[in-house]
Amino acid sequence: MPFLRRNIAGMAGYVPGFQPRDGKAYIKLNTNENPFPPSPRVIEAILAEVGGNLRKYPDAASRAACEEAARLYRFDPEWVIMANGSDEVLNNLIRACAAEGDEIGYVHPSYSYYGTLAEVQGVKVKTFRLGKGWTLQDFPERYEGKLFFLTNPNAPLGFCFPQPFIEELAGRVKGLLVVDEAYVDFAEENSLELVRRCDNVVVTRTLSKSYSLAGMRLGLAIARPDIIAALNKIRDHYNLDRLAQAAALAALRDQDYFRDCVGKIREIREWFSTELRVLGWEVIPSSGNFVFATSPDRNGKRVYEGLFERRILVRHFTDPVLSHGLRISIGTREEMEKTLAALQEIG
Ligand code: PMP
Repeated sequence: MPFLRRNIAGMAGYVPGFQPRDGKAYIKLNTNENPFPPSPRVIEAILAEVGGNLRKYPDAASRAACEEAARLYRFDPEWVIMANGSDEVLNNLIRACAAEGDEIGYVHPSYSYYGTLAEVQGVKVKTFRLGKGWTLQDFPERYEGKLFFLTNPNAPLGFCFPQPFIEELAGRVKGLLVVDEAYVDFAEENSLELVRRCDNVVVTRTLSKSYSLAGMRLGLAIARPDIIAALNKIRDHYNLDRLAQAAALAALRDQDYFRDCVGKIREIREWFSTELRVLGWEVIPSSGNFVFATSPDRNGKRVYEGLFERRILVRHFTDPVLSHGLRISIGTREEMEKTLAALQEIG
């Protein structure tokens, strides 16, 4: 194609998890969605916004949602930006900091979409493998790339890097250390204190998982005001529509509902992990709303297919470092009971 930039013509593009047309026909445990509905307050807030108001543009800076997030995380609002899914802000961090020919880095395995976003900008990508005890193999004393993305908790494996390790990493990264906390609400610790302490740490969050709002596309970043100001310059000026802003505000406000929902998922996760181990699977202790399970005498692809035949969708990665296992999102107790029964049948 003579019209395209060479890197766009040559890139493969990211392949998201399978979204069946008829979602109801499946137990859907393949894209880490929340099995519980969003807070009833969110539905009310969206419905209140539907109607005549849609004639008008939304608040360009999503101020109410931004202020609510700032209050919740105890930062000034200048330290917060709302995003159309955390994917948007990950993209804009690369656009803001890395020029064509520069490099960004991330851990493999983690969220490979960082690599796709970098490729679009003509930015080089370096990945670092995991070593024993969840350390990073061959990570230099000083990493010279413009950004380093650390998914914490790790996805798809589910473990957490310890906070002292992340702080040490911030000191070794010359550019920004972006801690992608998409799953952190299901974990014990987070890196918000590091944003205050280290001038190169950015935390990104999403409302897709713990707030059950994957369908609304809502995320945010917390960083020093100069970084937030740069991100504000380059985002779409109306990046959040009116419904999304109303939903974000209501979701962040309803912390009782949020805590209850996260608590239930953590409880199901622990029970499900134990039951999987009883069936002979090895399960990495998870801090997310999913588990990564492997089994020395089973083939990940075969089990994936067995589950698929029974209308249970989980995630199998073809990547050689992951193909021996399965990533299974945590659904309701009933869905996980059916999954266990199917796994037992498949053997
Ligand atoms: N980071 C990680 C590690 C994820 O797994 C995901 C979800 N696929 C995202 C970011 C993007 O989330 P969002 O829905 O907010 O764009």
